[in-house]
Amino acid sequence: MVRSRVEAIRFEDEKPMISEVLCTGCGICVKKCPFKAISIVNLPDELEGECSHRFGPNAFKLFRLPTPSPGVVLGLLGKNGTGKTTALKVLSGELKPNLGEYVNPPAWDEIIEHYRGSTLQAYFQGIAEGSLKVAHKPQYVDKIPRVVEGEVGEILEKIDERGRLKKISKHLQLDVVWERRLNVLSGGELQRVAIAAALCRDADVYLFDEPSSYLDVEQRIRAAKAIRSLKDDGKTVIVAEHDLAVLDYLSDQVCVFYGEPGVYGIVSHVHGVRVGINIYLDGYIPDENVRFRREPILFHVKPPTPELMAGEPLIVWEEMEKTYEGFKLTVTGGEVRRGQVIGILGPNGIGKTTFVKLLAGIEKPDAGEPPIESNGLEVSYKPQYISTDFEGTVEELLRAVSKEYFTSSWYRSQIIRPLNVESLLDRNVGELSGGELQRVAVAACLSRKADIYLLDEPSAYLDVEERLSTAKTIRRVVEEHGSAAFVVEHDIITQDFTADRLMIFTGKPGVHGRANEPTNLREGMNLFLKEMGITFRRDPKTKRPRVNKEGSRLDKHQKATGQYYYIE
Ligand code: ADP
Ligand code: ADP
Repeated sequence: MVRSRVEAIRFEDEKPMISEVLCTGCGICVKKCPFKAISIVNLPDELEGECSHRFGPNAFKLFRLPTPSPGVVLGLLGKNGTGKTTALKVLSGELKPNLGEYVNPPAWDEIIEHYRGSTLQAYFQGIAEGSLKVAHKPQYVDKIPRVVEGEVGEILEKIDERGRLKKISKHLQLDVVWERRLNVLSGGELQRVAIAAALCRDADVYLFDEPSSYLDVEQRIRAAKAIRSLKDDGKTVIVAEHDLAVLDYLSDQVCVFYGEPGVYGIVSHVHGVRVGINIYLDGYIPDENVRFRREPILFHVKPPTPELMAGEPLIVWEEMEKTYEGFKLTVTGGEVRRGQVIGILGPNGIGKTTFVKLLAGIEKPDAGEPPIESNGLEVSYKPQYISTDFEGTVEELLRAVSKEYFTSSWYRSQIIRPLNVESLLDRNVGELSGGELQRVAVAACLSRKADIYLLDEPSAYLDVEERLSTAKTIRRVVEEHGSAAFVVEHDIITQDFTADRLMIFTGKPGVHGRANEPTNLREGMNLFLKEMGITFRRDPKTKRPRVNKEGSRLDKHQKATGQYYYIE
């Protein structure tokens, strides 16, 4: 036993490697490794010969690929780390698939031969010959200014191969940033520029990796419409997206990615969008007879009645005003109780952060009474854009903010574990992926003992399951501390899971905003979605909310009866 372990683990370039031939799968190294960095998985025999790419020895392995078709929008849905970005890179031609043979990677003719008989044969033929043109919107738009310099208008004009720039930039509301340089743009602005840049290209295939991050609800719907319009020109479109309502609205078909994050990923067959999303929620793929999650993800049809559970008032505020140069916020009076999670819905730049600063006494109103004395309540804030300046490991960061709390079992079981941060403790903050960094930032925010937690878009870059466990974690922390949380969330379905009550911000972003008083979920959703002109119906099987087609019979009926989200 000991001998085989010694032989099975060897060192290459000072890095330990596990021989996949000699490893007996005894599991000792998995248990011993303090960083939970080793997974040993026996893959089913059926996957033999279906590997599309492998990064190297002991590295992530992707099985199969999504099969794209012209004139169809194909959505990719699955946990982070199961290979969606890898698949998009393969389909964009950026990454040549090695079919698992990382030592002697196959040539293009072997790859084409491997996919003989499927649509991927012609696809890779086109990539190999350079006759298939691909436009690709990458996942991390924040990195774009590091490689591209210049003004928005100038950059987009250079790549306007389809002559549609005017229409696209108007639709994506890029006029206000036209003369700005890329390096001063916010995440939401960069995202829209990146989407516009892909749409401007004259390509056969368009790939979008998480197009909705940093966008508010209206911008998400606009981006989705622009991406869908490519279909009318017979283009092939593939989109990886975690906002279920947006993915549903965007796609005609869906491929589900499953497996073990960071270890292996398998791509399901193509399904119609409704069935595909339901399969993902259910955790079971009937045509492949595979269960990839024990529990289904369930939705509640009626809003909960949290008023019964909420504690005493934490803050009561009267009407207030706050003016900055060029921007004015008007706040309607209201109150928040201990134990409540207030969901905030509204566009970016409408005064949400300003409002919370007024509540916390960090800013003083110009008109109206401050709700509390300036040395009043403690606020813990997770901004929309997370800084990676911290030099050190995740554990060092969390110890620094949580202090003695870090070693408590409550902290471990209610924050570290549900946010899945345990396996990241040893990693440097600067090298985390977007989703990993987000989980750490949420954990750090909730690690401080505070009266008010403000989390600005905690779901960016998280997958569906991570979004739901983040929602639950926020609720538990708030209940435990008898504090309150304000959560800005543009993913409507996630907001529904997160909030007890809703505050809707209306107005003109960057000019004037109104913070309406907190209402119950039903009233809040109606107020917000009425502004957006969107209604949701329920999927009969899973009860998940689906965006109605504009002008459909249901859309008209729900608008007339004021049932924008919850249906009687
Ligand atoms: P998803 O898009 O579904 O989140 P990815 O395709 O980004 O998944 O990543 C799947 C796995 O592949 C991750 O564990 C990631 O760390 C790993 N991976 C990605 N690129 C490389 C690379 N160049 N070398 C080794 N591993 C990689
Ligand atoms: P949100 O949180 O909804 O994105 P903010 O409250 O951060 O919006 O900002 C609303 C508007 O007020 C923006 O136009 C912003 O530029 C402006 N603003 C915020 N803080 C200040 C400040 N300290 N000085 C000047 N303008 C500010």
